[in-house]
Amino acid sequence: MTDTTSAQDARCITQRPATVYEKLNALAHNLWWSWHPEVVTLFQSIEPTRWRQLGHNPIALLKEFSPDRLETRAYELALHTRVDQAYRRMVQYMTTRPVWAQQNVGVLGSKPVAYFSLEFGLHESVPIYSGGLGILAGDHIKSASGLGVPLVAIGLFYDQGYFRQYLDAEGWQKEEYIDTKVEYVPLDPALDKDGNKITVRVDTSNGPIFARVRKMAVGRVNLYLLDTDMEENSKEDRELTSTLYGGNSRTRIRQEIVSGIGGVRALRALGITPGVYHLNEGHNAFAALEVIREKMDDNGMSFEDAAREVTEQTVFTTHTPVIAGHDYFEPALIEEHLGPLGRQLGLSQDALMALGRKNPSDPNENFCMTVLGMNLSRYVNAVSCLHGKVTRHMWRCLWPEKKSESEIPIGHITNGVHVPSWMAWQMKTLFERHMPGWTEESIDPAVWEQVHNIDPGELWETHGVLKNLLIIFIRLRLTRQLRRAKASEDDILKAQAIFDPNVLTIGFGRRFATYKRATLITQEPGELAELLNDPDRPVQLVFAGKAHPADKPGKRLIWEISQLRKDPRFENRIVFLEDYDINVARHMVQGVDVWLNNPRRPLEASGTSGQKAVLSGALNFSVLDGWWAEAYDGTNGFAIGNGSAHTFDAITDERDRASMMDVLKNQIIPMYYDRDEDGLPLEWIERMKNSIATLAWRFSAHRMVADYTQKAYLRAAGGITAEIP
Ligand SMILES: *Cc1c(COP(=O)(O)O)cnc(C)c1O
Repeated sequence: MTDTTSAQDARCITQRPATVYEKLNALAHNLWWSWHPEVVTLFQSIEPTRWRQLGHNPIALLKEFSPDRLETRAYELALHTRVDQAYRRMVQYMTTRPVWAQQNVGVLGSKPVAYFSLEFGLHESVPIYSGGLGILAGDHIKSASGLGVPLVAIGLFYDQGYFRQYLDAEGWQKEEYIDTKVEYVPLDPALDKDGNKITVRVDTSNGPIFARVRKMAVGRVNLYLLDTDMEENSKEDRELTSTLYGGNSRTRIRQEIVSGIGGVRALRALGITPGVYHLNEGHNAFAALEVIREKMDDNGMSFEDAAREVTEQTVFTTHTPVIAGHDYFEPALIEEHLGPLGRQLGLSQDALMALGRKNPSDPNENFCMTVLGMNLSRYVNAVSCLHGKVTRHMWRCLWPEKKSESEIPIGHITNGVHVPSWMAWQMKTLFERHMPGWTEESIDPAVWEQVHNIDPGELWETHGVLKNLLIIFIRLRLTRQLRRAKASEDDILKAQAIFDPNVLTIGFGRRFATYKRATLITQEPGELAELLNDPDRPVQLVFAGKAHPADKPGKRLIWEISQLRKDPRFENRIVFLEDYDINVARHMVQGVDVWLNNPRRPLEASGTSGQKAVLSGALNFSVLDGWWAEAYDGTNGFAIGNGSAHTFDAITDERDRASMMDVLKNQIIPMYYDRDEDGLPLEWIERMKNSIATLAWRFSAHRMVADYTQKAYLRAAGGITAEIP
């Protein structure tokens, strides 16, 4: 029933919808709407309060209206022209081929890229992501859509997604899993060429797992999501895809065979023959084995020949130097889940295990997905220049014949963010007015350089508007948090007036993994209190982030921050916002003055939230790690430390903390509060402009996807044969 309804909704595009109801439904069924502010505000204006309560979900919102009531509402609000215009723009977008694609995608036109990821962060109303990796995948496919790169994406549909976070009265993180109703997500059943719904089957030694395939439209890109919630499956397997990163390693390997092997089978059922397989992280490396099997079956090739071909077609991106971030499986799990495929490939259990071992002949080694991915890909890349170096060192044992690390064939393509999704619309409007030829999709430095022509007062005022919006958001959220935690009325009243828009505001939002050192800045509370409460030049701090449910030390860091509010010195100066997600992140990166990042170098592979902050005029203040190590030029933000790390973490931590305090006291605070007669911090504004001009295009997902296309995809698809950079 629900499937039919949404299929009808999606067909609205081809069936030329006539009514407001049909057009809005068509808009709601392609995530294109989410990066077009004029469409977002259109949905919002229908019923602003419900829009917020429903988590900015347009499908849920429209379900509250009958076609007649919506029609009436549209008349009351005079929405018809806006709806028509939005709809027309979407149709135009969907039916034109971008100039970039016409000139740059070559052979990919007939042989698209298949992009595999275990999570996709597209919008807060589609909760199938947990953090940075997912947001990156979401931004990647949005930019592929924008540039017109032929690409299909494959992942899993989680009906509960990642957990929702709240803090209990003592300040400890609690996890809550909420069922997403499938009919509230823009999904359609994926159909084969005869119009039948597609299901795939993946065999284990203990029987098959079945998955249905759903389709989500993300602009011009189709994202196919596999879902094991089917009657044919055991109860255990029906719940296999309910949560992201839940369960144990058995859950994980079962998810990974469904997404990797099942994903390749889904593509075949869809009639799609990819020219390139891009594995975003090791999770999906089993896909390459299934493609080898296809080639052996279809063309009668030997395993070696098929593997050689598949390797040429496969691009593998590794995302973390943290060991726990790489999947390892015990031999018994591999035998149970890969045994049937291994036998079809003609591989003994030893030969199969060898594909995932650093030392193929060591029987005690577990099976590592990253090793499998690296073994079966000719194009392996890290996600920043520094991460490239670290990765070559980390996996050098896989290339014993190379004499020096610099010869190891692992390059890097630095991450970037999808500008239309992350830049505040107020900034977009300002740029459109003052920067001829500028669009959010520009990757031409000369176009962005024109930011220097903007009047300092206007840029500052626009930033001020965004900062005010953040403070309103903080007050609302904090009030809600305190109500839920049964705080006193007095506390709640204070929360409703917390923070001051004239005070230098620093934001810190990210996963609470311990290497990110969320509490580095609070290590010396006395020193910090003095700084934050300076009568002339005060500072306020907003934190947000989730710790993985199993990460006790990470949860402890959240607890430490939550306790600070009980201290009168910090009560009005430090806030922890619960449930960091795309919505919270968007408010924070658009509204703060300074975006703080202080990971223990070199563990941050890239980091992307700072790139989002650039777009609306925040200045980065970061350890020289990940993207910042190649981005910082002395004039476009601020650095912590000098890019070195001591062997002992405790010493590194204290040095970085001291450097952070020093830069805060001697550079950031004085520059922020140094005002001219009009109240403008001119030097600061100059730095904002430098940041936008030098970083926005370089760390955009459009630049990133253009790089993947030119450096990896075209060659993998056999289009051109140049050397790996
Ligand atoms: C951007 C983003 C991240 C990743 O941020 P990092 O700087 O890479 O840690 C994580 N979670 C959300 C919700 C984000 O928007």
